[in-house]
Amino acid sequence: MAKLEALKPVLMLSPHLDDAVFSCGHFLMAHPSTIVVTVLAGAPEVTHEGYNSKTTGKTYAPDAIKVRRDEDLHAMNSLGATPIWLDLLDSDYAAYRPATNYVEVMRHEIARVLDETRPGSVFAPLGLIHSDHLAVSEACRTLMSEYALTWYLYMDLPYGLASRITVSKRLRAFRQRADLVAFDGYDAEPGLKQRVMSLYETQYEQTRQNYRKRFDATTRGAERYWRVENPL
Ligand SMILES: [Zn+2]
Repeated sequence: MAKLEALKPVLMLSPHLDDAVFSCGHFLMAHPSTIVVTVLAGAPEVTHEGYNSKTTGKTYAPDAIKVRRDEDLHAMNSLGATPIWLDLLDSDYAAYRPATNYVEVMRHEIARVLDETRPGSVFAPLGLIHSDHLAVSEACRTLMSEYALTWYLYMDLPYGLASRITVSKRLRAFRQRADLVAFDGYDAEPGLKQRVMSLYETQYEQTRQNYRKRFDATTRGAERYWRVENPL
């Protein structure tokens, strides 16, 4: 397999405030100045009990998301990356989303960011396990033929290590509409990725407990990438 040489500027789409680093930490270390767009980084102005309040200890949603944005800012600064946070809601706040097709809303907002930033390469999640990851991936899939940029997919981690079948299914879905070229992952000094991941203090232990062995492999790398060619 070839080494991935992405055309700059590089823009990476992250469903939540941690996914880009968990899934692509080694890539981000090798490509400082990547723009990382977290799609579902907004909060409704309500008090809410759920995943975000449980992990951050903040029941007022804007406070919970502020904690998570601060963690992301810290991690992005340590990587030399630039964060962009879209004000869309993750599934924890699904009750507060408008009663419209939310994938369409994501698609519209991602298109606006692409118009404004004009990247050379765009990295999108393969879209595994979590409904938000699938939604962001689908929003990107519909943009691939519209924006003549170099598109890549990355394997969502640790999800991709937990379900090989889901990885194969999503690759098959993409291959019906495009050719995919697989690339080697990136190696880096042991412990470096783990250190950046641990900056997401409210998410690190929770995700580790949920995924155990897969999480340990994620901290060491385990990254996978595909280039999308001839999208329909
Ligand atoms: Zn996520």
